[in-house]
Amino acid sequence: MGDCIFCKIIKGEIPSKKVYEDKDIFAFEDINPQAPVHILIVPKKHIDKSLDATDQDKELIGSIFMVANKLAKEKGIAESGFRLVVNCNRDSGQDVFHIHFHLLGGRKMKWPPG
Ligand code: AMP
Ligand code: ZN
Repeated sequence: MGDCIFCKIIKGEIPSKKVYEDKDIFAFEDINPQAPVHILIVPKKHIDKSLDATDQDKELIGSIFMVANKLAKEKGIAESGFRLVVNCNRDSGQDVFHIHFHLLGGRKMKWPPG
């Protein structure tokens, strides 16, 4: 998608601190971390938001959970705990309209979220 910032990051047109890549998925450190570990995991396929995922994306979305588990283990937050967050549309605070999963950990999280 033309001016999508995450598509540009995936293509390397905007720099990022990459932590994982395979043929379908890209993961990088959030530029404004909200926890000691804050990674964004995104499909390379541009999907605006979670509401737009279709049956065809089931395997892709499942794979993102597997990548989150792998990165949580690598970053040492698997046992202490972590949160995987997907914001969708205005009330959630979604800012970037390329679906992404926030992997957050390394500190005690509050519930309910703000
Ligand atoms: P959301 O509010 O769920 O749409 O989250 C968007 C996230 O993208 C925020 O946590 C931002 O800090 C992050 N972000 C925006 N631009 C960049 C960038 N260039 N590199 C890394 N993370 C970014
Ligand atoms: Zn995009």
